[in-house]
Amino acid sequence: AYASAYADGKPWCIYTPQLQPDPRDLILLHDFRQHGTRDMRLLYQPKLDLTSGRIREAEALIRWHHPRLGPIPPGHFIPLLERTGLVTRVTRWVIEEAIEELARCRTRDPDFGISVNIAAGDLSDDARLVDFIRDRGASGSLRGLRLEITETGVIQDHDHTQRVIAMLREAGIHCAVDDFGTGYASLSYLSKFAIEEVKLDRSFIRNMLENSRDQAIIASTIELAHTLGLKVTAEGIEDRETLQALAEMGCDTAQGYVIARPIPATELYPLMGRRHFPSLRID
Ligand code: C2E
Ligand code: MG
Ligand code: MG
Ligand code: MG
Repeated sequence: AYASAYADGKPWCIYTPQLQPDPRDLILLHDFRQHGTRDMRLLYQPKLDLTSGRIREAEALIRWHHPRLGPIPPGHFIPLLERTGLVTRVTRWVIEEAIEELARCRTRDPDFGISVNIAAGDLSDDARLVDFIRDRGASGSLRGLRLEITETGVIQDHDHTQRVIAMLREAGIHCAVDDFGTGYASLSYLSKFAIEEVKLDRSFIRNMLENSRDQAIIASTIELAHTLGLKVTAEGIEDRETLQALAEMGCDTAQGYVIARPIPATELYPLMGRRHFPSLRID
């Protein structure tokens, strides 16, 4: 095959769509280089602890309101910044913001936790992420900080990721595997990493009640995760029936519009400390 490919002596050239960049992306990249995180802010989506019925944690979710282009979804600009090697600047800002917010939340609930999403590109940058986080923890302010790494981010360059996650745990930072079920990693494989939690992707949760196959997968995933010492969060729950079913299956934590959308931190405070869904059957 090689011989015939080179037979006419012409050099190879591989074209990818990236060679034709979207002009809007060029604007975004230009403005990010110019203004950094100036037009970005964090919202927080509450996580419901299904054993106590209380909000004990939240996930920081970034928003970019571009002055001319309007709101840009993170699902678009994070991969864009990742491809261009710029994402670390965002990640550092998010971590610093989250640590500051954590201090405010912890005056209300001393055990409150905030998780931050980490891009795969943040982990490949040697152990600098770990150093950056450790530097910020000199005063013990890291307590309650957690990281979410996507399943595909964890398994790519796995030896390296395994070391980084182990260093994070030593520094007292818990890691969760985000979007679990969207890739091909098994729980037993992931349990070799020093992670504390798996987050079941919304694609499983969405049709759970109509799809007995999805429901069986979720039930056995929760069981196996617990056997392996992992906590399970379900993402993207939009109705009470699904929330109830997950509580009955022993799922530890729940997140989704039925509980709350991503909200500014000030709207988070009144939700803390009280019991939600009092009629929810919890074991
Ligand atoms: P993710 O970490 O899996 O976050 C969950 C996404 O689902 C969020 O979208 C959230 O707003 C949305 N969501 C939550 N509950 C529901 C629900 O009940 N129904 C539906 N339909 N959606 C729900 P968002 O905020 O647009 O973020 C998308 C992705 O962008 C995140 O997925 C995460 O991978 C990434 N991302 C967001 N913020 C950051 C960040 O600060 N840093 C990095 N590296 N990635 C981020
Ligand atoms: Mg996440
Ligand atoms: Mg997710
Ligand atoms: Mg996702």
